[in-house]
Amino acid sequence: MSGARRGAGANRSPGAGGPSDAGRPAGAGVATDSGAAACPPAALAALREAIALSARARADGRHPFGALVLAADGRVLARAGNESAAGDDPTAHAETVAIRRAAADHGRRALAGGSLVSSAEPCAMCAGAAYWAGLGSVVYGLSESRLRGLTGDHPENPTLDLPCRTVFERGQRPVTVHGPLLEDEAAAVHAWFWQRTAGSGGGDP
Ligand SMILES: [Zn+2]
Repeated sequence: MSGARRGAGANRSPGAGGPSDAGRPAGAGVATDSGAAACPPAALAALREAIALSARARADGRHPFGALVLAADGRVLARAGNESAAGDDPTAHAETVAIRRAAADHGRRALAGGSLVSSAEPCAMCAGAAYWAGLGSVVYGLSESRLRGLTGDHPENPTLDLPCRTVFERGQRPVTVHGPLLEDEAAAVHAWFWQRTAGSGGGDP
């Protein structure tokens, strides 16, 4: 499992705890690093489902990303694949679609303390959405940095390579982050996808 290969601090923001943070009050939103061992088994199972959703999105001609939102008790509140390149909503990443769907179907309170499980690390927008939705944790497969290596300069996916931990570290409440996990499985869905001829626009995540 590739996630275990990376050290606990390997995905930490370069600036975390560094000189750039001097003088800045320590926020409550310190994200937690953890490997597969610390990730609840149910969350790993959900991550495999998110990866399956990403494969389904690809099979449907959409960008290969998938996400689920789980309630604090582990119930699945919503599932989604990426819809940003297929429709007219450029913000319809799998994560934002799943969060909006979960809130619409179950009410925003149902999301409190829940989890966002995504086949790829949430971009800055999606990490922000998770924060504002009140979710308590994020589980992801493919890291943004590895995704960027896969997408290159593809015009449909100018990957925003900012670790989600960096976003959460600036928040005022903690968000626990588990990832990257099952990264090779998540990456396999992207094989050769970004080498194709560019189609309709819309970047993600
Ligand atoms: Zn996103």
